[in-house]
Amino acid sequence: MAVFDLDYTCWPLWVDTHVDPPLKRKGEAINKVVDRYGQALSFYPHVPSIFFFCQRHNIAIAAASRTSAPSAARQALNGLILIDDSPSSSSTPKQVKSSSLFKYTEIYPGSKLTHFKKLHADSSIPYSDMIFFDDEHRNGEVGKLGVLFVEVGSQGLDLGTFTKGVAEWRARRSARGEDEGRKEADPATKM
Ligand SMILES: [Mg+2]
Repeated sequence: MAVFDLDYTCWPLWVDTHVDPPLKRKGEAINKVVDRYGQALSFYPHVPSIFFFCQRHNIAIAAASRTSAPSAARQALNGLILIDDSPSSSSTPKQVKSSSLFKYTEIYPGSKLTHFKKLHADSSIPYSDMIFFDDEHRNGEVGKLGVLFVEVGSQGLDLGTFTKGVAEWRARRSARGEDEGRKEADPATKM
């Protein structure tokens, strides 16, 4: 499972302080919502492709955010419409509501240990098969549970950081000896 923080990991602002709800899609906008004053919110450029990569590889997608404005975060996820850029998707590009890509969303203030205990309880996925992308060092405390924490830089989540995280997860799995007898072409099935 790939778990994503929202503020400064998926989009470049704090949803509880930098925008004023309601957040709504305007017209046919792609990857863009605006707040009541017209301030825009979009995912960082690589984020939609990362979500669709996960979807293609059957990697469950989850959000873990400690924002104090959960309803604004949900409005953003509902309003941000993306175009599925998967090579295998049909000839007419499909529009997808980003909230529909998330299997689990844990959005409320407090230590992310709580968010991950809930994700584990709901999904039955072992902590060792979760990768967490987050821009705040303090949230690395989830590593105590066995989750692989990947710190996102000030540029936000990009393909380089995502790929590095997946490679690290695979290396850890090899070290645990869990890939014996598994097909090399099947790297993502356990996430
Ligand atoms: Mg953040």
